[in-house]
Amino acid sequence: MSELTALQDRALAELNACSDEAALRAWNTKYFGKQGEVVLAVKKVGSVPPAERRAYGQHANQVKETLTKAHEERDALLKEQALERSLTTEGLDVTLPGRPVPRGRLHVATKVLREIYAIFSDLGFQIYRSREVEDDLTNFELLNMPPHHPARDLWDTFHTTTPGVLLRTHTSPGQIHVMRELAPRPIRVILPGMCYRYEQITVRSEIQFHQVEGLAIGDHVTMADLKGTIITFARRLFGAERQVRIRSSYFPFTEPSIEVDMDCILCAGKGCALCKGSGWLEIMGAGMVHPVVLRNGGYDPAKCSGFAFGMGPQRIAQLKYAIDDIRLYWGNDLRFLSQF
Ligand SMILES: [Zn+2]
Repeated sequence: MSELTALQDRALAELNACSDEAALRAWNTKYFGKQGEVVLAVKKVGSVPPAERRAYGQHANQVKETLTKAHEERDALLKEQALERSLTTEGLDVTLPGRPVPRGRLHVATKVLREIYAIFSDLGFQIYRSREVEDDLTNFELLNMPPHHPARDLWDTFHTTTPGVLLRTHTSPGQIHVMRELAPRPIRVILPGMCYRYEQITVRSEIQFHQVEGLAIGDHVTMADLKGTIITFARRLFGAERQVRIRSSYFPFTEPSIEVDMDCILCAGKGCALCKGSGWLEIMGAGMVHPVVLRNGGYDPAKCSGFAFGMGPQRIAQLKYAIDDIRLYWGNDLRFLSQF
């Protein structure tokens, strides 16, 4: 017992002599380290005769608590003193240059989307957003693809564990949503958003990507309106001298369907590596809205008509900025992202 009291007195005296952090650390190791005197004293309770064990244990714990508390107080006092010293002796130089804050920026995908929004806004199109999780009915059936329709194979689909619920494979189901909301009024919208496909990720294909869909419905909307819209868009985004050509194509939800090419931005039609020697670059698919789709949206195909188009902003940005690997978009590599 008297050993414990002596230990406490000695430790307190040494603690009060500590004048800096290093000394405090050494003190702590000496008394509270693995082989510290206090630690050993507490452990010693096992070798004390049973009659005295209880009293010894209590006393040992008391010493431990007292010293721990004293250490905390000394530590706080020393820190306060150190702060006061540094404030009075080391002045603050406000003329030193500040540390630069790194500036963030918009993702290249967002930038291109906004450019596309601006062009179509000027043409009177509104932005309509719809859900990324769809049902089979809206993603396929109402777009003129009944179950087992072979065209469904064009889209490798992510199905959820809920039957009939899937991640949209294209932005086209948005056409149904906007038509059903606005019918029978005329429509002029673009439908941007993320789409998902169950594909192998390669230099040329990703499982997620943006699409921008366009839809215009009204009286006497014709193929000429579609062509004019596409040409205006291509020239605004890629330069006033751009030429556009259309080829016939097939989509279940448009009739007739077309594929739109633009003369190569690098070689202007002469043939180069970007256009693989053809002189043309594919920029979008489009067509006149299929009568079945118009009817599913609540419009009478005998009274009105419409056109639709769909493009991949990532592919468009690849042309604009000569990006050769689609995986870079979502790879989160700052060396890539900070270039835009
Ligand atoms: Zn070319």
